[in-house]
Amino acid sequence: MSQQNEYKHIETFAIHGSMKESQPENSPIVPGIEMSTIYEHRKNGHLEGDLKYTRLQNPNRIQLENVLCGLEKGAEAAAFSSGIAAINAVFQTLEHGDHVLLPSDVYFGTRKLMWEFANRWGLEVEFIDMTDVNRLEQACKPNTKMIWVETPSNPQMLITDLEAVVELAKTKNLVVAVDNTWPTPFNLNPLSFGVDLVIHSTTKYLGGHSDLLGGAVIARESGALMDRVRSVQVVQGGVPSPFDAWMLCRSIRSFPYRMRAHNENALDVAHFLSTLPGIEQVYFPGLASHPGHAIAKRQMRHFGGMISFLVDGDQQLATRIVSNTKIIQAATSLGGIESIWEHRKSSEGPLSETPENLIRLSVGLEHVEDLKEDIEQAVKQGLTTK
Ligand SMILES: *Cc1c(COP(=O)(O)O)cnc(C)c1O
Repeated sequence: MSQQNEYKHIETFAIHGSMKESQPENSPIVPGIEMSTIYEHRKNGHLEGDLKYTRLQNPNRIQLENVLCGLEKGAEAAAFSSGIAAINAVFQTLEHGDHVLLPSDVYFGTRKLMWEFANRWGLEVEFIDMTDVNRLEQACKPNTKMIWVETPSNPQMLITDLEAVVELAKTKNLVVAVDNTWPTPFNLNPLSFGVDLVIHSTTKYLGGHSDLLGGAVIARESGALMDRVRSVQVVQGGVPSPFDAWMLCRSIRSFPYRMRAHNENALDVAHFLSTLPGIEQVYFPGLASHPGHAIAKRQMRHFGGMISFLVDGDQQLATRIVSNTKIIQAATSLGGIESIWEHRKSSEGPLSETPENLIRLSVGLEHVEDLKEDIEQAVKQGLTTK
């Protein structure tokens, strides 16, 4: 896999990175879906070779892991059936009694995983503000083993300085794991900052069409840590089906061009929102007014397709606005070609710590003028009706 780490242009690699395979003459350009769960081992009557049984490995999964590994410039990738299965695998590498630091503004599913399972696993978890690396250092204890990072965080778009976190982690021998679902490898490659593991919900931008579920862990180096992740993958069995792996490889071929447009549209919409009456605050790291802008500019190539904003009012106003649109549909999740938004607190439920007037917008690939018009009329209508 390692020779695939070196690509000159992501647009070319995204297309060919899952199609390289030694095949007989007149082989198809696009690989087929290999549905067989079992492989023949006639020669010696015992299991030999790389392919034995589909939970362990499958040609479509190999193609997927190759392209994901290359996109993140890693040494090895493991694909999972969902983003949360990939996240689960990383936490399962820890030992009973280990202490983990997570951002206080973290993807709600990760928080829920910790709330419901960390105690039973014997993990000690602590949620802290990761925009402040000094706080992070003070929170480290003798049993701290891992720092979990999201930058931008979900949903408040807080930025964490990866260089500073890695520097701290090195002095204390901690694993740094970054959930890179939001920025995507088009905009940010955490492994090149010395981060140990990158995690993805491939359900989002890599899948890109809101029609498949998947996850991945990519390691900077092969070795004991990634062996543990791999062991969770094949022993606990949260693997993607050959069809899902094939679908995702197909989506990844157009991923860089989709990201260009997501980035461009979101930047435009973020500027537009900041001038719109009825909007109290826009959280987007591409805006010079964002507190994490300087760090984001340094570590990211572009700022991504996600925007959160506070409306000048309460929960009723926010929910009214999200249900007033013609193009942007009210739905959870993100990263698809279609624009969607949601009142995030309602999606997260009663335990949510997200502000009640926050709307989370996943900017899609519609024409940006149509999106701005739709947002403007939804906000206006929301403000005038009661
Ligand atoms: C959606 C999401 C996940 C979970 O992924 P699933 O594929 O839904 O399991 C994890 N992290 C982030 C940042 C996400 O947005």
